[in-house]
Amino acid sequence: MNDYDVAVVGAGPVGSSFARQMAEKGFKVGIIERKKEVGVPLQCAGLVGKKIMDTNILPEEFIVNKVYGAYLHSPSGTVLSVAKKEPAAYVLDRVAYDKFLAEKAVDAGADLLLNHRVNGIDIENGEIHVKDHGTISAKVIVGADGHGSFVSSKMNPPSKTVQAAQYLVDTGSKVFNSDYVQLHVNSDISPGFIWVIPISESRARVGLFADTSYKNLNHILNEFISNDKQFEGASVVKKYQGFIPQYDPKKKILCGRTIILGDAASQVKPTTGGGLLIGFKCANMASDVVSKALDEEDMKLLQDYPKNYMKEYKNELRMQLEVKKIFGAMTDEELDRMFMKLKKGGAESMISEYGDMDTQSTLIKEMLKSGLLISILPGMIMKGLLNLWK
Ligand SMILES: Cc1cc2nc3c(=O)[nH]c(=O)nc-3n(C[C@H](O)[C@H](O)[C@H](O)COP(=O)(O)OP(=O)(O)OC[C@H]3O[C@@H](n4cnc5c(N)ncnc54)[C@H](O)[C@@H]3O)c2cc1C
Repeated sequence: MNDYDVAVVGAGPVGSSFARQMAEKGFKVGIIERKKEVGVPLQCAGLVGKKIMDTNILPEEFIVNKVYGAYLHSPSGTVLSVAKKEPAAYVLDRVAYDKFLAEKAVDAGADLLLNHRVNGIDIENGEIHVKDHGTISAKVIVGADGHGSFVSSKMNPPSKTVQAAQYLVDTGSKVFNSDYVQLHVNSDISPGFIWVIPISESRARVGLFADTSYKNLNHILNEFISNDKQFEGASVVKKYQGFIPQYDPKKKILCGRTIILGDAASQVKPTTGGGLLIGFKCANMASDVVSKALDEEDMKLLQDYPKNYMKEYKNELRMQLEVKKIFGAMTDEELDRMFMKLKKGGAESMISEYGDMDTQSTLIKEMLKSGLLISILPGMIMKGLLNLWK
């Protein structure tokens, strides 16, 4: 007799969302979480595209700001200003939202085992070993244990990650247009970038991710804040750090009766490292597949999870990997030239119309159709992009 139908490792937002859905369908669900408290420390900028409303539950009380657009800054200061008429993204209170998602899973009937660290797993037979607590058995194991996933390490080589740093900054006066996020690119950190995500007119989450050490990230962030006028006299209220997994198209997300989900499966957007929306979508996909496999007592049906994931995301993620490669190879001069050409070529209105934080292929297709990309990118890169739609 198994302890659970499904044992979920990790009570992050993705694991809790998956667990809630399974419990709502009547399955016996256990969530095994190593921390004593869900959601802390904060390791997120909390920006999520509006499609979250069709993907997961999100009560208004967890939205601290609604964002309509973005100011995109080139290294020497050319700014592309893009905006929608309706909010395009929400800034979340991630700590409270993570706690809420875990509570909802418990309300639906899941057991939440806090202070339980998984340190052993039998992927084929569905057994989990928990430090100081013995063995838990389940018909299906779901690894939603984040970027350094223990579960993934049993079926994949170690994941590649990049570091991220973020400050909560208070300027003491109204300096931000809170309808807009700011993104700053330069060749030292590209394909990473610096973000300024306002949570009010005087407070913002200012951060960056890049393939460099945490010490360097802090140095870059300090320089950025001290050189940018909008931060004159500002104070750093809190500092955060974290890791962002790099999307790996070769990652195995199913092995035996075990699947992995969210950051554990590197289900993040290659261009921005954002993992909330894609993680939630994959949690929905996985809950459909796992519940069917359990209902029909046929574990072969779990194979639909990687199939459905690839069907939905393969092209989008490949295209974003290509865009990331292009940005990663550009010098400051090339980035500046590209911004100027985009501005002159009418890209602001095109991005405002077709831009989507989460599905970037639509915009790229429009830019290819209009000839705008042909005018700014070298021939070889263009060929690479065009091949993606063959
Ligand atoms: C600085 C920063 C900014 C970000 N900004 C954004 C953003 O603006 N928008 C966005 O969409 N994404 C953003 N992300 C990414 C986003 O935070 C992640 O994609 C998201 O948290 C993934 O959720 P998850 O549930 O898969 O994993 P996690 O949130 O990492 O949760 C994993 C859980 O598993 C637990 N766990 C780990 N190992 C074990 C174990 N052995 N046993 C038991 N439990 C275990 C952990 O304690 C944790 O609670 C950002 C990330 C960083 C670092």
